[in-house]
Amino acid sequence: MDIIYRYDPYQPIECPRFETSDAAARALRDGNARFGLMVEKVQGEVFNGDTSRPIVIPSSPLSLGFPLVPGKAPMQSPFGIILGCSDARAPIERIFDHSHNELFVVRVAGNVLGTECLGSIEYAARNFADSLRLVVVLGHTGCGAVGAAVDLYLDPDAYGAIAETHALRSIVDRILVVVRVADKALERRCGLGCSSDPGYRSALLQMAVYLNAALTAHDLSRELQTSVADRMQVVYGVYNLVSQGVEAAPRDEATFGMAPRTSAEFTELSDRLADSVLSCGILTKLENS
Ligand SMILES: [Zn+2]
Repeated sequence: MDIIYRYDPYQPIECPRFETSDAAARALRDGNARFGLMVEKVQGEVFNGDTSRPIVIPSSPLSLGFPLVPGKAPMQSPFGIILGCSDARAPIERIFDHSHNELFVVRVAGNVLGTECLGSIEYAARNFADSLRLVVVLGHTGCGAVGAAVDLYLDPDAYGAIAETHALRSIVDRILVVVRVADKALERRCGLGCSSDPGYRSALLQMAVYLNAALTAHDLSRELQTSVADRMQVVYGVYNLVSQGVEAAPRDEATFGMAPRTSAEFTELSDRLADSVLSCGILTKLENS
């Protein structure tokens, strides 16, 4: 199978510039939809055994990272900052079908907000304010870092295994708080006994992934002192490793959710996520009762 990046030299070559956060979010949403279509097309052709036709991806020299002016480095002008997980299955530019000089990407296990990550983001926010319009915290389903926090929450005795490792603790400890919030939200929705359900770990993990991204977006919003009215909104989303889609909640059509601004908004989000996760039928006892 051939996958061909093709550019039309008669089409104008433009760097994407956006006036608003909504326009920047739309560009990422559209890029993720393009990526999903490409995956669907490749899977369809491989599944059907027809790999003779090339898959053509419209492109331009800039999107492929080829500078147009010899002897001159391009000006850095990203339109979005993305804080994502280091997971090798979640490459940011590929997920959003965007390329060189469009996204300022910071990746760390569990997409947690450590000092160095915040410093990188603040640097970008200060230096590329002319082009930046959006900050995204991107979690992903099946996150190993969130899974480790869930396992420690369910079995605190296992904490000894990482207690001596400051670096690992610093990641897991930041995530434990959202695991507890997820646990409490599930308990409010389906009672104390639900934690004995065989599907409880999966439900807790799924909720914690969304809440972790949302809480980090909240923290970033406070640090950057942005608000809905500002030119650079802070949002969160979760990349689904199975569907390749980015979503604000399981099975949600919205790609991104706004960073919760208060503890009340965060609690309300945790209750909505609990309803959403429970509607997927993860808790088997609840489904069969
Ligand atoms: Zn991860």
